[in-house]
Order: sequence, then C-alpha cells, then structure tokens
Amino acid sequence: MANVVRTAVTNGLEVVGQVHTHPGHAYHSGGDETGARIAYSGYVSIVLPYYGRQLPSLTGIAAYMYRTGIGFVPVDLECIMVLHATLK
Ligand SMILES: [Zn+2]
Repeated sequence: MANVVRTAVTNGLEVVGQVHTHPGHAYHSGGDETGARIAYSGYVSIVLPYYGRQLPSLTGIAAYMYRTGIGFVPVDLECIMVLHATLK
C-alpha cells in the first residue's frame, strides 16, 4: 500500500479507492464490508470478476462507495472509466 500511495503522490494523484477480485462473480462480501480498513465517505471499492483479464472492459464488475453512517452503497457503473497512463 505504501508503494501505491507513493506512486500516486509522485504523479499528483490521490488514492480514492481499492480494487480486488472475486474470481467468477463480482460482489461485495460481508468481509469486504466489515474488514474495510480504509472507509471514509466517498471511498470507492471495486470488485472485478477476472481481475485484469477483461480490462478495460468493465463487464461484470461491482462497484460501491462508502457513505458515512450508511456503509458501502452500489455505484452506477456509468460513473466509472478506465484511464490509460504511464506513471513515474
Ligand atoms: Zn471482496
């Protein structure tokens, strides 16, 4: 995580979410909900069914945003896009 934060800062970016996989079926598990170590309003959690294999296609993904006092709520997939960039 330290490397991720360092790379983001070096490139003028911020870490605003996490990505992980559930092979075959993307969903937010109970462990995802209770085990989220970073949870602040606006934090995004994206689950991919076959991490990396189908990008930039977002087919089959599940996405959630943390809301203080509510927890993770589903995000409209039209709000998500994959950007291609070369990082320092
Ligand atoms: Zn999960």
